[in-house]
Amino acid sequence: MRFLKFLIIVSILLFPGIKGCYHPNHSSVIKLDCTKISAVNKIPETPGIIIISSSCSDYQFEKSATKSALDIFVENYSNEFEMSELSVWGFLRDLKIEVSAIPRTVHAAYDLNGKFLNGKIPVSGLALRKDWIWVEIKTSQIWSSSLVHELVHIIIWRQNNVHGDPDHEGKEFSGWTKKHTQLIEKINKILLDAEI
Ligand SMILES: [Zn+2]
Repeated sequence: MRFLKFLIIVSILLFPGIKGCYHPNHSSVIKLDCTKISAVNKIPETPGIIIISSSCSDYQFEKSATKSALDIFVENYSNEFEMSELSVWGFLRDLKIEVSAIPRTVHAAYDLNGKFLNGKIPVSGLALRKDWIWVEIKTSQIWSSSLVHELVHIIIWRQNNVHGDPDHEGKEFSGWTKKHTQLIEKINKILLDAEI
């Protein structure tokens, strides 16, 4: 008991600033200057997933925060769709996650209910190719971005090999169900609670 007390005192003396790790607004975003640090970063312990920024002077999701978000996504997707975690990782193999703080617009898009929208549509994320998504960085945390949403497009795209179901719950393309939409909400809530 006395030893424990001693240890606690020593810990407090050694780590007086440890509280600093738990401040409420943990940032999962870093400022990027590609003349100083590489704009292309491999996400550790994933099957070849990389993260890049759209511009040299931009922002990027921090590598370990991205890894945590991917771990949470894979675990929950695997449980929800009764697929092994290894298979889910397989569907994300060699994915390029392009991120930027600079918003984008497209000429046409579908909303979540499958309604076709024409004109200059602001988007917060895009599944550009089977191996390439673009995600806007909106705040200092990943939960507020469309990362999880775009990952779902990629899995559907690689499952049917033809499209990522651009109209979501709409009837024109198949793949996306209400279950996918609910899972995205659930995962983003977990990320929010974990301050990722
Ligand atoms: Zn979408």
